[in-house]
Amino acid sequence: MAKPIIIGNWKMNGLSEEADHIVSVLLTYAEQNQNFAPTVICPPFTQLYHIRKHVKNTPYALGAQDCHIAEKGAYTGDISAAMLKDVGAEYVILGHSERRAEHKESNELVNKKAVAAYKSGLLPIVCIGETKEERDSNQYKDVIANQIKGSLPEHFNGLVAYEPVWAIGTGVSAKNEDIAEVILFIREKLVAQYGENGKKTPILYGGSVKPNNVKDIFAIPELGGVLVGGVSLIPEDFLQLVTIA
Ligand code: PGA
Repeated sequence: MAKPIIIGNWKMNGLSEEADHIVSVLLTYAEQNQNFAPTVICPPFTQLYHIRKHVKNTPYALGAQDCHIAEKGAYTGDISAAMLKDVGAEYVILGHSERRAEHKESNELVNKKAVAAYKSGLLPIVCIGETKEERDSNQYKDVIANQIKGSLPEHFNGLVAYEPVWAIGTGVSAKNEDIAEVILFIREKLVAQYGENGKKTPILYGGSVKPNNVKDIFAIPELGGVLVGGVSLIPEDFLQLVTIA
């Protein structure tokens, strides 16, 4: 089976000094190790251009954390997928629960962003996942089914990340059997929606992934990789995930 993909989401972290430190540790590791799992780093917009120069021709790919639905125009403060592509990004995280909550991003908007990303040559990583209340009230499958139907475009070529909101940044990952159940559920929905293509879409897990739980998480059937927040800022720990993969 292909190695799982590892995606580091720096979120709104990474001033120049910290970004340079993380990247230099990653680059030293890449010089000394050959057998790499596909690894993507998603720094804030402000670091993309700078980091691109360093990761060019290394095993690391670059991703962003959001994009606008339009290619260009009068959208003060926004960044288009074409701009991300222009500065070397290959991936873009879309519909992260922090954006869904804080920026009121709907499934419909995430869907449009995924279309825009793909049109500009980026692979969208579409995040879905239930809140604590939705899990406790046993609504999680309905929520996830709804997010898949609404957030993924008619023709989808990208990745799906299952990130239960209650496991993000809490230090408490979802239980393996719960992750496994949802991953299989997502797979069924993808196959129902896309046929053969739905079998190929990588399905990732995210939410308090750490060196000490990643091995068990990688053993989950159908899991295509992990989306990592906090640990991606600690390069020594992040690289342990790469090594274990
Ligand atoms: P975490 O974040 O690894 O810090 O839980 C995951 C994410 O938000 O993608």
